[in-house]
Amino acid sequence: MTFNYLEDFKRKNGYEIEGVWYPRVTAICDIIHKPGLLRYYAQQPNFAAAQESLNKAADWGNLTHSTIEALLSGEEIEIDPLIKPSIRAFDQWRSFHKIKPFGFEKKVISNKYFYVGTVDALVEIDGKVGILDLKTSSGIWDEYSLQTVAYFQALNEKDKIKAESRWILRIDQYQECLICGAKKREKEGKERINGGGKNFFSHSHQWGPIKGEYEFKEFDNHKQDLKAFLAAKKLWEWVNRNNLSKIDNYLGNKKQNILF
Ligand SMILES: [Zn+2]
Repeated sequence: MTFNYLEDFKRKNGYEIEGVWYPRVTAICDIIHKPGLLRYYAQQPNFAAAQESLNKAADWGNLTHSTIEALLSGEEIEIDPLIKPSIRAFDQWRSFHKIKPFGFEKKVISNKYFYVGTVDALVEIDGKVGILDLKTSSGIWDEYSLQTVAYFQALNEKDKIKAESRWILRIDQYQECLICGAKKREKEGKERINGGGKNFFSHSHQWGPIKGEYEFKEFDNHKQDLKAFLAAKKLWEWVNRNNLSKIDNYLGNKKQNILF
């Protein structure tokens, strides 16, 4: 059997729903340049090791996601000791807000712009209904605003519950060097050290206790962000024009006239 590049492309970038193929929001957002990721790869011994670490980090993210979603929906669950500092940070965040959950891991489709995505949580926070996206990254990156606005648009095209807002809740945990302030994270199965002042190399780091932290951010410029997402999607379509033009059940080909 020969390797089918088109099928591989379709599988990696999207999936079919009722006979129609849609690209995933996250695949589209991958078109955005991530300088941090390049630096990350450069620090790894080789490509395979880098991939393995990223997979471990993804497992960590999944564990944190499922735990937080269970807690938000009121389930009593056992917390994995590995992520306890993160969950303590989450509990602290939660204690400051009034939260009502409507649903988790909700699939949303935009039939106006032809893409699909999965919303982590649809919730009401302090009286406002919106999309909550959980992240376990070490920062809130620009592409998150595009990712969340894409979900926001798709959800509001047809869902009975309309979102008014969108938020990122970033949960992270690390140990800080008591001397230089460098941060050590072990989410990738091995330690990764970032930051620290200019005396970084003058000492052996002294790690404090594992600390959890959270960052909560609301995005409010839906219109501007949607424009940027659609521009990113256009660019993604152009980059992948050869594959996309061969996908007969991708409606974006016909309705948006993207055949370059
Ligand atoms: Zn240090």
